[in-house]
Amino acid sequence: MTGSPGRFYKFKGSKSLQETERDPMAQTGIVRDDRYMDHVANSYHPESHHRLEVLYQMLEEPEMKGKYVEIRPRMATQEELELIHVPRYIQLVASTAGQACVMLDPDTYACSKSYETARLAAGGTLAAVDKVVRGELDNAFAFIRPPGHHAESNRGMGFCLFNNVAIAAAYALKKYNLKKALIIDWDLHHGNGTQHSFYDRADVLYFSTHQFPYYPGTGFFNEVGSGAGRGFTVNVPLSPGPGDAEYMHIFQKILEPIALEYTPDIVFVSAGFDVYYNDPLGGMQVTPQGFANLARIVLDFAKEICKGKVVFVLEGGYHLEGLRDSVKEVLKTMRGDILAGGKDENIRKGVDHQMIDPVIRKVKEAQKPFWKNL
Ligand SMILES: [Zn+2]
Repeated sequence: MTGSPGRFYKFKGSKSLQETERDPMAQTGIVRDDRYMDHVANSYHPESHHRLEVLYQMLEEPEMKGKYVEIRPRMATQEELELIHVPRYIQLVASTAGQACVMLDPDTYACSKSYETARLAAGGTLAAVDKVVRGELDNAFAFIRPPGHHAESNRGMGFCLFNNVAIAAAYALKKYNLKKALIIDWDLHHGNGTQHSFYDRADVLYFSTHQFPYYPGTGFFNEVGSGAGRGFTVNVPLSPGPGDAEYMHIFQKILEPIALEYTPDIVFVSAGFDVYYNDPLGGMQVTPQGFANLARIVLDFAKEICKGKVVFVLEGGYHLEGLRDSVKEVLKTMRGDILAGGKDENIRKGVDHQMIDPVIRKVKEAQKPFWKNL
């Protein structure tokens, strides 16, 4: 065990930092399966099977091996895919099975085994939901691909075929009769598909930090939901530059108060690691320790709200060593091996307020009508 026993923030009315006792080790589940490598492009593509290769190797390191509970993935059924996707689109992806590679959009390929792999990605996430909702595991991380958050109901885009996290949230509500789910999307890119899946719904709150303007172009402050869903989409568009301190600051000033007021029954993290400081696609500055800090914030408020039920779902992250090191820190945090945030005062002092305060002000302006806590 490493790290300071003190937590770096506390909830209103909760015990002080020193009084807060950490639970014994959490039971953390992982979804992994070599079949996730079967989605293979026929030429160089950043979203490659090598991403999972490095993660699966990391899970075999002595420090990690045997500490996480394996969750056996399964294929998502047609009915489960239809929670988010229209049958016509599912049919289109299915028609690529066994065929030579086709491009569904300029970035998004489907090859011979991609349909199967994508169904297994969605189903693996659902298997993690089952374990966590039933209380058989405290939390879980689905190491799956292809990623999902750009996939719209009727089309694949941005490396994504089926929207794993959106299907999982809709499934959790329907199958287990949960009232509310929170999806936190810290990927570099805005999760347009996830946002649109729940844009007019109050039972799924979508929160996203992302580089803006940037691919896919959505995710401005004023996109707050529509109809009954107004106030249940929260966008934090960012110029390149924010790092550990700024991300933590956003999570503490915007996400945490909204989450505490919303009180979801389950929390999902669309965990993209392309905000890593050396990622080839992004301009953010988050370090492995920074990801652990963000995970800690989420796990701690989830503990207050929904018994710590958090399912992490892999999205982007294209610097292989960065992806590996960052996921490792998040996993250790999920299990309670490290209490990230021990250097919180230094992190807090390091916030570039000039960079981040105008953004926070604009998010608050857009969201204040919906949230008393802001
Ligand atoms: Zn991304």
